[in-house]
Amino acid sequence: MPKFVFVTGGVVSSLGKGIAAASMGALLESRGLTVTIIKMDPYLNVDPGTMSPFQHGEVFVTEDGAETDLDLGHYERFTDSRTRRHNNFTTGQIYDSVLRKERRGEYLGKTVQVIPHITNEIQAFIHRGARTDQDDAPDVAIVEVGGTVGDIESLPFLEAIRQLSLKAGRNNSCFVHLTLVPYIPSAGELKTKPTQHSVQKLREIGISPNLLFCRADRAIPEDERDKISLFSNVPAEAVISVADVDSIYRIPRMLMEQGVDDQICDCLKLDAKQPDIAVWDDLIERLEHPQREIRVAMVGKYVDLTESYKSLSEALIHAGLHTRSKVKIDYIDSETIERDGPEGLSQFDAVLVPGGFGKRGVEGKIRAIEFARKQRIPYLGICLGMQLAVVEFARNVAGLAKANSTEFDPQSPNPVIALITEWVDADGSRQNRSEESDMGGTMRLGAQRCAIRAGTKAAQTYGPEVYERHRHRYEVNNRLKDKIVQAGLVVSSETPHESLVEMIELPESVHPWFVAVQFHPEFTSTPRHGHPLFKSYIEAAVARKESRK
Ligand code: GLN
Repeated sequence: MPKFVFVTGGVVSSLGKGIAAASMGALLESRGLTVTIIKMDPYLNVDPGTMSPFQHGEVFVTEDGAETDLDLGHYERFTDSRTRRHNNFTTGQIYDSVLRKERRGEYLGKTVQVIPHITNEIQAFIHRGARTDQDDAPDVAIVEVGGTVGDIESLPFLEAIRQLSLKAGRNNSCFVHLTLVPYIPSAGELKTKPTQHSVQKLREIGISPNLLFCRADRAIPEDERDKISLFSNVPAEAVISVADVDSIYRIPRMLMEQGVDDQICDCLKLDAKQPDIAVWDDLIERLEHPQREIRVAMVGKYVDLTESYKSLSEALIHAGLHTRSKVKIDYIDSETIERDGPEGLSQFDAVLVPGGFGKRGVEGKIRAIEFARKQRIPYLGICLGMQLAVVEFARNVAGLAKANSTEFDPQSPNPVIALITEWVDADGSRQNRSEESDMGGTMRLGAQRCAIRAGTKAAQTYGPEVYERHRHRYEVNNRLKDKIVQAGLVVSSETPHESLVEMIELPESVHPWFVAVQFHPEFTSTPRHGHPLFKSYIEAAVARKESRK
């Protein structure tokens, strides 16, 4: 059975619990242990798939096609473990499961209650995510409890982990509590009171933290840590100072220097080798010594919400680390391009149109793509960014008038992008989109393996095949594909059975680097390994920068 590290948060949200959990995972892996990380979200939505990016930030897609919390992205970037559907669950899923059992009569007529039925279900879900009893169970399951201690919604989760740790027995679980130690400028002091209250709240529920991670904008001096130790009943060496840093990839070292991995191994009586974090140190060295700065224009809609492009901005940073470039991303609202024109893009080393949904700003993105194509600026299109590259090419090169995606113009005479159901009917009739369609379940989701055409840029970067994750409803329309290909667009990869377009590009004779993909490569980029497509893209940006000197 795996051992458990439970991570809770106090005082306020957004302290970086996910990154703390992921960094502990990285440290434990560096000691030769296997880990998995689970996130429990206390909201009632079944998953974040249908939530607005304003509410939730990025939706991270797992290999097996689940739409999950963006913290799972951090878990995959920091550790070698791959998350699956069961690594993330919500209160909504727990209630859904309990209510189905109730309808099937599985509770044998008992009154179904939060305790024990909901709390038991949570424990069962934790064990399922941790793969307890499976042959490939990890040594350690790190379980992050979403929300903040003191929230009504979080209570069943806290009760469940308390019970689970009791049942798991001595030395099988470790509690890490993350709190805020704010600096009050007028007093010139760090304040420990909120931490004190937060730990008290946790103890009321019956959980005594083994380690306290204290977030602050500066290192917390020893006397303050001693004070926190005294009132929270946590040994002084277990009061960890987690100060703000310029890069999240510094956190594993910061935790290791304060003996976090030693203390966890000690708490769980784990026999592990000494940590080796040379790869993280190497990354920091690269981060500190870039040879140039590369400016990427990311033309999107949720530009004020960089959280909604989390994996993507990280993937660009990773590509920078592996090409010795500091990548600076300018988020450009595509509506400003509709208003002011695309010319401003010429000052950038590369242009990127990311994934997205909905009509607003689409024409601005198309103009940005046209500009990048004509000015030979390296262009990477992701998901919607590929669909719009096809639309732009269809309109402006293939001469398909008013070409569009039916997502934006259902009446388009040249629907080069459409729902499969809209273009498969032999009579050419288009089915109306059903308003009652299950918004949570109609997407192409998850990873798919596809062959790549030899001799293409895609083959140069990926090799003979690609295995990346999807999250979209619309596809390139196979009925119009030939016309676009005849006009010179290269389809470099398609799905094996339905021939759905996976990757497109322009030949090198026409454009130095113009590649767009229907999937989301950003989900598989990690700081340690980088990602072939993003690396190649940033290399092209570097070449443009050098050539303009
Ligand atoms: N809106 C498009 C679709 O559903 C693109 C989705 C995306 O970019 N993730 O197909």
